[in-house]
Parts: sequence; C-alpha cells; structure tokens
Amino acid sequence: MTPTCRVCGTLLAERPDHGLLLCPDCASTVHRISHPVCPICGDPSHAEAGNSIRCGTCRTKDPSFDRARAAFAYTGAMRRLIMSLKYGLCFDEARPLGRIMAATVISEKMDFPDVVVPVPLTVPRMVKRGYNQAARLGLVVARCLRRPLDARMLVRVRDPGPQDHHSRAERLARVRGCFAVKEGTSVNGKSVLLVDDVLTTGATASECAGVLKKAGARRVEVIACTRAVTGA
Ligand SMILES: [Zn+2]
Ligand SMILES: [Zn+2]
Repeated sequence: MTPTCRVCGTLLAERPDHGLLLCPDCASTVHRISHPVCPICGDPSHAEAGNSIRCGTCRTKDPSFDRARAAFAYTGAMRRLIMSLKYGLCFDEARPLGRIMAATVISEKMDFPDVVVPVPLTVPRMVKRGYNQAARLGLVVARCLRRPLDARMLVRVRDPGPQDHHSRAERLARVRGCFAVKEGTSVNGKSVLLVDDVLTTGATASECAGVLKKAGARRVEVIACTRAVTGA
C-alpha cells in the first residue's frame, strides 16, 4: 500500500528515512530541539548564552525533576501528529516517535533509569479514550532502552481540568495533589524516567517528580516527545 503523509494525507512516493510518515512539506515544519538548552528543563528559548546557563524559570524555582529533555518543538506537523496520537488516529506513530525519544535519552547522556513511568491520564479520560498516549510512547522508550515500564506506578487522583490558558504558577497550583504513587509500589532508591507527550510549562512533570521523590525515588528525569518553545 502506498504510504500517505500522516498530517496532510499526501501520497508519498517512498517511505521517508527518518521513520515518520510525513511528506517533505510537513517534514520541513518539524524541528528537533538543539543545543544550547537550559541544563535543567531543556528549554532552548532562553539559552543563547550557553548550555550551562539556567533559564529564567529554573533560576526562579527549581523544578522537582532533576532534568527534562524533549525530542521536538511542539510546532507545525509535530503538533498535529501529537493531537492524532492523543485521539488514537495514528497509533503507528508512537513507534518512530518513541525511538527518537530513546535516542534523545542516550544522546543527552540522561541517567540510565531503573524504571520508565508514563504520566498517567485520569481514569474517566482513560476509559473514554481507551489508552494513554504517554504510555504508548513510554512502552517504546522502555523497549528501546531495555528497561522495565511501569504504567501503574503513578496514578492520577484528581483532574486539574484543561490547562491551556494558565500561567506556570497557576498550572503548578492546579496540578498539586493530582498525582500519587500507587500503594504498594516500590520506588525507594530508584532512578525514574518519566515519559510524556508534551512538556508545556513543566508543571505536571514537576508535580509527578515531586510525588515520586517523596516516595523515595533517588532521581527523576523527564523525556518528552515535544516541548513548547517560546517564539516558535
Ligand atoms: Zn504532509
Ligand atoms: Zn529551565
């Protein structure tokens, strides 16, 4: 069967070698995150001065995770691809995206984790959608890194509601108390790699990391497929 672009539907003459089914026009809107980035949250927007300089956000307040990195900017075709993944329209894309995320873990020399944990959805959302896109990506990342996936270590006990129009401070306040470590799970002394599809302000990732650390995690790093980039 002739492949078609996952975003605009254009017929593709051949399978692109980057693994993502995108036509050249859509592929040209996809941007890998490149250095320099903030050494903590991986934000490339304010890091002109170099890799060792923290961004304004991380200078003001340390996030609870040790480090976060993302493979792509949340723009252009990647934004549409993530939306399709979220709503189950292109399951297949989890594989190439997850592979690129695992490659990012290695190229960024992130900690080799004891366990890979996806950011959970709320139970009603999970029931409605039938699956969690972060868990799909997490499964591929875990397989590529040959580490175990624990999709049940973190649970969402409350839903902060849509976060789209809130500032970082508001998001932080709204996600507080939304996550918990599942009772009876052993997190003590472990290095956890948290997986999400989009890193926006980092509030959700920071809250999850805080909960994991409180439960005894030694280290929590975050790998996201995409991240919001100011001015992109
Ligand atoms: Zn296209
Ligand atoms: Zn930062």
